[in-house]
Amino acid sequence: SKLRIGLLFGGCSGEHEVSIRSASAIAQAFQSEKNTPQYDLIPIYIQKNGIWKGGETAQTVLEKQTPPTLQPSGNRWEFPSEVSEVDVWFPILHGPNGEDGTIQGLLKLMQVPFVGSGVLGSALGMDKLAMKTAFAAAGLPQVKYKQVKRDKIWSSPCVFPKLCDEVEEEIGYPCFVKPANLGSSVGISKAKTRSELETALDEAANYDRRIIVEQGIIAREVECAILGNEYPQASVVGEISYNSDFYDYATKYTTGEAKLYIPAPLPDKIFKQVQDLAKQAFVTVDAAGLARVDVFYEEATGKVYLNEINTLPGFTATSMYPRLWEATGIPFPQLVDRLIHLALQRHQ
Ligand code: ADP
Ligand code: MG
Ligand code: MG
Repeated sequence: SKLRIGLLFGGCSGEHEVSIRSASAIAQAFQSEKNTPQYDLIPIYIQKNGIWKGGETAQTVLEKQTPPTLQPSGNRWEFPSEVSEVDVWFPILHGPNGEDGTIQGLLKLMQVPFVGSGVLGSALGMDKLAMKTAFAAAGLPQVKYKQVKRDKIWSSPCVFPKLCDEVEEEIGYPCFVKPANLGSSVGISKAKTRSELETALDEAANYDRRIIVEQGIIAREVECAILGNEYPQASVVGEISYNSDFYDYATKYTTGEAKLYIPAPLPDKIFKQVQDLAKQAFVTVDAAGLARVDVFYEEATGKVYLNEINTLPGFTATSMYPRLWEATGIPFPQLVDRLIHLALQRHQ
């Protein structure tokens, strides 16, 4: 009989719309019988309020590729009946509540195999501070960074200036201020002066208790896709270029703002170094199935620095992750198939 794949998408995060587009692309791969005759697709849509919807509702969201008007009825602990029929879960949720280990914990409790990283890999991949601590322990190259807690930012007027002094001494300008637990560049600012730093810290504190300040570097942004479990494979390396100050939210999601180059025009040695670093990053956080690893290449010094790992990268038809595999010789439907096999393998 056919394996029933539970495609879980939407979710309570700022990346709800991207998740719908990723899920639609995956559903399309299942549609062509020729590609995936061995699977039946069960779409399950998580509304922005956390309530799960199956059946007609989920199907319609996939087809229309936009969120419907919110159905307030339902209960977060009641699941659509199809949930009990799922043989393998394919969660394609980005950001908090989807990419951070929370859903992974739930699926693990269900004792049903699922695509992608488990609780640990997902949690480490989401929290930029925990991620950097793990990378540092593994000796992987990164830019200088500093942890800042929100209570120090929103504290008495005598603590905050001291904190800014510390940042200036330890990190300097320009620096990047980021909430630890988001994605899509939300809440991230680049600061070149004291007053910009103050604003940036306050802005990041609106999003998270945990904040990271990093040394800002001038570098090319390259990305590598990883596929596998214990012995991960690296794709060809891709590069992103844009005209804005950095790869911010608008640049990421406005068509035509960013250009992707696949493969990236890099010296052979750097290309290989990025692939190796990406594999090491994957193993270091105990990721599984898939991940996209983002690396800075500082051309002036010839150095590479690990930026971050994304354990549920964008998976739309035009996203970097599937495009990198396509260029490496694994077309989209085959990629989906491989991920399902990796989920089954890891569950054993
Ligand atoms: P997100 O998880 O939201 O994608 P990133 O840490 O990747 O967050 O930062 C978003 C973007 O900000 C990067 O793609 C890059 O353009 C810029 N950036 C982040 N950190 C640095 C840094 N240390 N030096 C230079 N640019 C940076
Ligand atoms: Mg990220
Ligand atoms: Mg990023």
